[in-house]
Amino acid sequence: MLHSSSSSHKMLRPQLLKPLTFTQLLSNNKGVKLGISAGKRRIPQIMASSISTTQQQQQPVSAQVDSSQNSAPRPLQIAKRLEKFKTTIFTQMSSLAIKHGAINLGQGFPNFDGPEFVKEAAIEAIRAGKNQYARGYGVPDLNSAVADRFRLDTGLVVDPEKEVTVTSGCTEAIAATILGLINPGDEVVVFAPFYDSYEATLSMAGAKIKSITLKPPNFSVPIDELKSVVTKDTRAILMNTPHNPTGKMFTREELEAISLLCAEHDVLVFSDEVYDKLAFEMDHVSIASLPGMYERTVTLNSLGKTFSLTGWKIGWAIAPPHLTWGVRQAHAFLTFATSTPMQHAAAAALRAPESYYEELRRDYAAKKKILVDGLEAVGFTVFPSSGTYFVVVDHTPFGMENDVAFCEHLIKEVGVVAIPTSVFYLNPEEGKNLVRFTFCKDEETLRSAVVRMKEKMLMKK
Ligand code: GLN
Repeated sequence: MLHSSSSSHKMLRPQLLKPLTFTQLLSNNKGVKLGISAGKRRIPQIMASSISTTQQQQQPVSAQVDSSQNSAPRPLQIAKRLEKFKTTIFTQMSSLAIKHGAINLGQGFPNFDGPEFVKEAAIEAIRAGKNQYARGYGVPDLNSAVADRFRLDTGLVVDPEKEVTVTSGCTEAIAATILGLINPGDEVVVFAPFYDSYEATLSMAGAKIKSITLKPPNFSVPIDELKSVVTKDTRAILMNTPHNPTGKMFTREELEAISLLCAEHDVLVFSDEVYDKLAFEMDHVSIASLPGMYERTVTLNSLGKTFSLTGWKIGWAIAPPHLTWGVRQAHAFLTFATSTPMQHAAAAALRAPESYYEELRRDYAAKKKILVDGLEAVGFTVFPSSGTYFVVVDHTPFGMENDVAFCEHLIKEVGVVAIPTSVFYLNPEEGKNLVRFTFCKDEETLRSAVVRMKEKMLMKK
């Protein structure tokens, strides 16, 4: 298309690539007005790197390349299936954190490093020449390590060669699962608030999304509503436990209720369990381990959260062979294979002694206490979070009209970044009172954020 002389591009009205205002950047991605959003006006999707730097960088590459022939910038282009989505909220908020020098309790990435023994294993693998394409569905040692860990966690014995697929992070595992197993028009049930890639990937697959909202304070599954939504037309339920952004963990009773519905209506489950090792208040239960469920479940997980190595992007999908086939076919043509040396290091990571996981939980429990106590002292209503490294609060005691306005205030006036949750709902209105903070930061950073909030926001009683 770049070299085409066709006039089709020119028929589109060029949109000027002006820098976006704060509220435009944060306006929710469903085009629904939240009071301060840009309403119906279409906001150009721009590259994240343009947010805080120069005008030059705000031009997409195509506009720069072509400037000799046509001084008007080219219109941005995107396939219809993605046009309603904006730059991910995590990218936007991390850019704003840098721009405003704010403490980033938004995007969930640790500001401390992963364990030495895992980094050493990666360096060793690189030095040992393990640098060419990996086997498409994973280097054998990692497939085995994933299967071993799954057996320790769930008691399920899976064949590492036939039932484990290594992917580029869990986000790719989710995409490969959806694209490999969902046909256009298939109904898929999700629990709102949901991780943003779910809706975008389901949209790429042409799925029909049915959303069930988990409501504060407990974010329990409304079983009767679920029963009315899961029918013979449902192909899959896409769930996440421990749950991002709320920290809710699905109880055994809830999982049993889901299982019964799946058996009754022959429904698959795609279960995103990337926070399974960050379970504080109760034990994590994989739905695949419930009677009869392994045969209809794809369990999705990754290395990043458990080993504080979110940039490595090593994930996996565990499923019986008949489901693994679809997942692997999609994976084969999405990324084909994943970084070879990092996979070798991931195998070493997964063989960490149990004491590693205990220490991780202990460290995170201390961080969580600092943040939760601090948020409560500042005056937020903090909802209970049993797992993940997130906590959701009600910001309305501070009088802002919605989550986006609150986060804008928090960044500009207080110097702390949180994530507005309205982007995690089909109907953004449902999230307008809630914002998410992460505690995957060192204790000093968490304390400093609390101090900033106390100084600027402490409610006068
Ligand atoms: N999972 C991380 C979070 O929820 C962010 C991942 C991302 O930036 N895409 O904060």
